[in-house]
Amino acid sequence: MKGKLVLISSPSGGGKTTIIEKILERHPDKFIYSISSTTRKPRFNEVHGKDYFFLTEPEFKKKIEQNQFLEWEKVHGYYYGTDAAFVEKCLDEGKYVLLDLDVNGALNVAKRFKDQAVTIFLAPPSMDELKKRLKNRETDSIEEINKRLERIPLEIEKSRQFDYIIINDQLDKTVKQVLKIIDEMPKGMNTKIMN
Ligand code: ADP
Ligand code: 5GP
Repeated sequence: MKGKLVLISSPSGGGKTTIIEKILERHPDKFIYSISSTTRKPRFNEVHGKDYFFLTEPEFKKKIEQNQFLEWEKVHGYYYGTDAAFVEKCLDEGKYVLLDLDVNGALNVAKRFKDQAVTIFLAPPSMDELKKRLKNRETDSIEEINKRLERIPLEIEKSRQFDYIIINDQLDKTVKQVLKIIDEMPKGMNTKIMN
């Protein structure tokens, strides 16, 4: 298994999707995105098989029973999981696999893959800016946004176990920082905060 896992977490609206898209655009041969499965309903701009595999709860539970997930978690009341066979195939091919995971999923996978994985937590510049970005994204109702904001204390607490915390202020700078971290894998011992 020659490839590497890049495990990216943040509060909702922290910039995971945007940054992963930019990296894939710039380096399509080196990186590949692990498309998760979820029981959440698609947003108006999301496509089955591109953003997620949108499953019903019975479909998702069947995959759990069949051991098809590398990991899975319940987040904001929905199930989310990573396809094990896909990730293993990409690693065998020597790819750098980008994963958008909640904090628990990222830390669990990192523990298992050790030096083959790096954990990056994207922090917003401020709570006000995060709320602004979530509102401007126009993909979630106020109720959904509030549900997502409630999880932030847990996410901030867990971020202290990540290899890197990047303050996602300017998009281009964040992309450069993520690419530098990946170039410098394996990572060191303590959490590094980048601003
Ligand atoms: P996530 O996938 O973590 O939920 P997104 O990538 O969807 O977050 O980002 C949330 C919103 O914030 C999007 O509308 C995106 O365009 C915007 N955004 C992301 N990063 C930045 C940044 N550094 N500066 C300004 N806006 C940003
Ligand atoms: P969203 O509904 O905003 O797309 O994602 C909600 C949360 O689920 C985010 O924290 C996101 O990182 C996480 N998530 C997405 N896919 C997976 C997955 O496969 N596994 C885990 N553990 N979390 C995921």
